Amino acid sequence: MQKFFLYARKSTDVEDKQVLSIEAQLSELRAIAKRDELEIVEEFIEKRSAKVPGRPIFEEMIRRIEKGEAQGIICWKVDRLSRNPVDSGKISWMLQQNIIQKVITHDRVYLPQDNVLIMSVEFGMANQYIRDLSVNTKRGLRAKARQGIYPSVAPLGYLNDVRNKTIVIDRKKGPMVRKAFEMYAENKYNQEDITNFLFKNGIQSRLIRRPDATGGKPLKRDQIKWILENPFYYGNFYYSGEVWEGRHKPLVDKKLFDRVQDVLKLRGKTRKPELNPAVFCGLLSCGECGCSITAERQKGHIYYRCTKKKGKCSQPFTREEILDSQFSAILSELVLPSEWAIELNKMLDKDEMEITHSAAASIQALRADIMEINSKLARITDLFVEQDIERGEYLDRKKALMSEKKSVEEQIHLLERDAARWLEPMRKWLIEASCLAEAAQSNDLPSRKSYLQKIFGSNLTLHSREARGTPQNQWFYLHQAKSELSELGFIPSMVPGVGIEPTRPCGHEILSLARIPIPPPGHKAILTIA
Ligand SMILES: [Zn+2]
Repeated sequence: MQKFFLYARKSTDVEDKQVLSIEAQLSELRAIAKRDELEIVEEFIEKRSAKVPGRPIFEEMIRRIEKGEAQGIICWKVDRLSRNPVDSGKISWMLQQNIIQKVITHDRVYLPQDNVLIMSVEFGMANQYIRDLSVNTKRGLRAKARQGIYPSVAPLGYLNDVRNKTIVIDRKKGPMVRKAFEMYAENKYNQEDITNFLFKNGIQSRLIRRPDATGGKPLKRDQIKWILENPFYYGNFYYSGEVWEGRHKPLVDKKLFDRVQDVLKLRGKTRKPELNPAVFCGLLSCGECGCSITAERQKGHIYYRCTKKKGKCSQPFTREEILDSQFSAILSELVLPSEWAIELNKMLDKDEMEITHSAAASIQALRADIMEINSKLARITDLFVEQDIERGEYLDRKKALMSEKKSVEEQIHLLERDAARWLEPMRKWLIEASCLAEAAQSNDLPSRKSYLQKIFGSNLTLHSREARGTPQNQWFYLHQAKSELSELGFIPSMVPGVGIEPTRPCGHEILSLARIPIPPPGHKAILTIA
């Protein structure tokens, strides 16, 4: 059976600010091991940055893997193992030599035949930084959920105890909610009666802190249903599609809750309006209340609307055709002008050449090291033959030198093969960005959606029938560069396909596209098409 080392790392550096705490990493990783029935022989915990080689715990782990104490590593993400090419190279190399047979992370398994590790680390640093940020934040919330604390706003009848970071019963409203359950379980009242009962007892829709807000009305029927169906009230809660055991005090017991479910089924009148799976579902959230946007078919048209799960929301319906034309315009704005693509490719070529050159220089230096090790080996052999040193000492020194030689050889091999590989994702992106024009203009809605997801992640909102969003990663910089240059009059037209004059500053401006992974804090370029 394969044995695994568990490796958790979090530094105090800014780069790790959003990373799961060591504790949370450990619990996630142990859960993975348990799920996959993996044997963990030891847990390694490191509090250092992985930007530069030379982490003591990591090195110790590697040494012990070389000794055969374990055949695999479990870690949260590969960037926990390494953020520098030397350590990434080492891991990659050990994978290919089958010394490490598996690297298991929360979302994938790296096997010996994979040579994407370097790429994922290098690329992971730049391109997917923002995506990871959000995943990690979500994981942090999951860790909270695992502790039994609902990581969100307390439902009606409960309050968030901010100081103790727990959820407690609202002494005024809690009993009213329990009463509502009891009433409904009797099967004598409908949901409207419950609404009125709660309203009479001071429970009303939440007041929104806005001048034109209308709060203070009776709860809506679907809000009542949501309360009656929420397992939170008997002690469990849903979070990110999973049920968790809560640590909060239940307001109703399971028996009462189940009776209410029976009555709900029996009455079953509150059928939701029929939902049709429409292509842009799951892409947008409401710009007013933050709920997700769903679709509904009416009179042959598809309309998108807010699910209003959080209550009051004044947003109107939007027809699919209108939304789609906005999307197509948004994407058109992000098409990479061909002149820029040429420029960027040139820069990449130059980088690749430089990397290859400097790799060649390093290889030369490493070859010199090997020659020196060889001559040292020859010298100690002479000393041994002349009986100037003991056999034990000779063997020790020989072993040390051989091991050093092997490491140097591996480094040479890596440099020869992988030196410029991390540029590949960037090349891929260039092609993607250049091809965007087609996705923006064709009638292929699913492809439009997949581009939008790639570019905006979960940043797209719909407000007053207008889709907006902040593009992510390189797309953010591409958009920024394009709008800056168009303000300066360098780009006469944003329409793709139309010839764009080659611009002198572009080579320089674009640099920031590829090299700076994160938008500056507070800086928001919102793309909106009226
Ligand atoms: Zn809304």
